[in-house]
Amino acid sequence: GVDVDFHDVRRVFPGTVALDGLNLHIPGGQLLALLGPSGCGKTTALRLLAGFDSPDAGTIAVGGRDVRGLPPNQRDMGMVFQAYSLFPTMTARDNVGFGLRMRRHDSGKRSARATELLELVGLSDHVDKYPHQLSGGQQQRVALARALAIRPRVLLLDEPLSALDAKVREQLRDEIRRLQVELGVTTLFVTHDQEEALSMADQVGVMRAGRLEQIAAPQRLYDEPATAFVATFVGTMNRLEAIMVDGSSVRIGDQTLPIRGASPGGAGTPVEVLVRPEALRIRPDVEGVWEVFVATFRGATTRLQLRRGEESASADVPSEVASSYPPGARCSISLPDGPALVAP
Ligand code: ADP
Ligand code: MG
Repeated sequence: GVDVDFHDVRRVFPGTVALDGLNLHIPGGQLLALLGPSGCGKTTALRLLAGFDSPDAGTIAVGGRDVRGLPPNQRDMGMVFQAYSLFPTMTARDNVGFGLRMRRHDSGKRSARATELLELVGLSDHVDKYPHQLSGGQQQRVALARALAIRPRVLLLDEPLSALDAKVREQLRDEIRRLQVELGVTTLFVTHDQEEALSMADQVGVMRAGRLEQIAAPQRLYDEPATAFVATFVGTMNRLEAIMVDGSSVRIGDQTLPIRGASPGGAGTPVEVLVRPEALRIRPDVEGVWEVFVATFRGATTRLQLRRGEESASADVPSEVASSYPPGARCSISLPDGPALVAP
């Protein structure tokens, strides 16, 4: 696959800075997920790469070549959007062959390639069906086959799973990732769903208001969020009241821990310590200041919702010990040793 690079890309619409100096590097063959809330600029970035729109400043390069001035049909990009993007009056096979027709392949070749791609996405039995005869998940498979049929240099996916039910979404997510790895096609995947981003991507770029907050491999992003925004946007994060004891350590309950990253202030500054539900240590304790009020079974783990006055927290425990924490039970919690992430 080819490398894709955004360099200081800026795009301004009346009243909105959609992209405020975006820098991205996607190594050839990798899948980069752009993750962020609605309106943060994800689709704008994708449209600029596709060539549907042009940056006001900055450059975009594919395979080391500036793509400025190249129209979309000369960029060799396969695209899948949220839904309903198939041509309703064409069969699955003709939809998949469409890009090849535009490229003037003859009909025999087109049909063979379309059949091959439909097989690849598990739709061999549906080649002659029309979109309305297919489920949402099947339609998105056809859209994926269509995007891949032209052997794109880059695959662009804009929330392709958002309109599907949970089960289908999960299946298709795994399948897109499998195909992407097998074909080694450089992919930009845009989503507001953190689970999707974390499970599919080599690298996840978290965006906020037209800027990249952090870009990192999924595990790294999850374990070491660089900012409070990333910490709370990706996964569930507890925010526990604490107080700085000096510029570099924080006191929470009876623990004193060093802090990670920039100091939010000196001794006495109130802060919040950010900690994942599964990282929180918990033990039953009749003298404990926390009270269990809900326990939610989640399979291997059970999530306990805890409260202490106005403050609340979530803790995940192995389900086999969940019976030690019935609603109303008292408990105490502690943080893992090691540097704590704090937010002012
Ligand atoms: P996302 O895909 O992350 O939800 P978008 O890239 O679609 O966000 O939009 C980013 C911002 O730019 C939003 O505030 C949106 O309203 C604005 N925007 C996007 N496209 C246009 C456009 N063609 N004209 C005016 N504003 C736009
Ligand atoms: Mg969008």
